[in-house]
Amino acid sequence: MKNLRYFLYCLSLLFFLSACNEGDTPLDDQEGSQENFLSYEDGLITLKSGAIVEKKGDNFYWQGDLMLSQTQLEALDEFGDIIVEDPSEAASQTRNIHPVYNIPVKAGEDNVAVPRAFGINPTPFNMWAMVRFVYSPTLTFDRRNIIRQALQHWEANTNVRFYNATGQPTVDPVYGFAYPYLEFVNSTVNSSFVGRIGGRQAVNIAAFQTVAVAIHEIGHAIGLLHEQSRFDRDSFINLNLSNVPSDNRHNFNKRTTNYYAVGPLDYNSVMMYGSFDFAINPSIPVMTRKDGTTWTGGNVLSGGDRSWANSIYIPYIARSDIYAELAPVVFKPDNTIMSASERLQLQAQLNNGNPNPPNCCRLPNNF
Ligand SMILES: [Zn+2]
Repeated sequence: MKNLRYFLYCLSLLFFLSACNEGDTPLDDQEGSQENFLSYEDGLITLKSGAIVEKKGDNFYWQGDLMLSQTQLEALDEFGDIIVEDPSEAASQTRNIHPVYNIPVKAGEDNVAVPRAFGINPTPFNMWAMVRFVYSPTLTFDRRNIIRQALQHWEANTNVRFYNATGQPTVDPVYGFAYPYLEFVNSTVNSSFVGRIGGRQAVNIAAFQTVAVAIHEIGHAIGLLHEQSRFDRDSFINLNLSNVPSDNRHNFNKRTTNYYAVGPLDYNSVMMYGSFDFAINPSIPVMTRKDGTTWTGGNVLSGGDRSWANSIYIPYIARSDIYAELAPVVFKPDNTIMSASERLQLQAQLNNGNPNPPNCCRLPNNF
């Protein structure tokens, strides 16, 4: 069990570090490889390992839509996978670097299993600093109401922050690039992209949904995947696919690459389907725990959902200047709250040592 936890721990860290071992990273031998990769012409490239990636300008893509970091590209070249197991025992003791901002955070101890939900591998390319969003002008009142409550639920329980840019430009007026933002729109279905994709990305909400539905779709937009698609879910649940219509069975495919998960499967996750979802015969569960019991699926963010988000995001207050001002409550990855001095220390770290924001420049930001 310890080995498994250690492996998962390394797994989670390897996505944003060159390797799990501080001193002797196998990838350090590959010095200059970035230039080698960049010297290829655009198009499909077969790597040393046989894996195929697509180069578009300075970016490399794997399996169609997955953008690769330099570390992942090197691992894929060398090992044929973005996941590399490091046998070093020492690695589990150190390594507390914030995945998106490369700043130190206090991560959980290796020997404490913190349940967390399951999401995409966080990189600066697919996470948000602050989630810019707009309400579609035609959004119905009932939808806007549940979305507002869902946004408030996310903010009250996690470090994820949203900025309401409804009615504002969607393209930067000075530099001309498209802002990444969510647009909440009326739909007959509920759906969302996973993570930040760049430019406009719709969050589709059907009529007369629960707040839980909006919490779930926003969860996708910040990077969460479905809990039952975890790579290790078969250790936790029994799946009866014969009770699922064939064209819905893909909903239960496992995600085995490019993910970020630590700890056991979280039955209470708002990203977890209920035992009877998609059932042809509604009296027979599609999923059960190993002991045969069932669950209904979460309606609010679980401890694991929160922990996933709090491991990745930092809660900023919307400002018009470049000062990175933190919200009064900053969660740690284990969902405890930073002390006042820890918060100030982090704020100083984010601002070249200056813990005091200029007394100006906060933007109105109402949902
Ligand atoms: Zn979903």
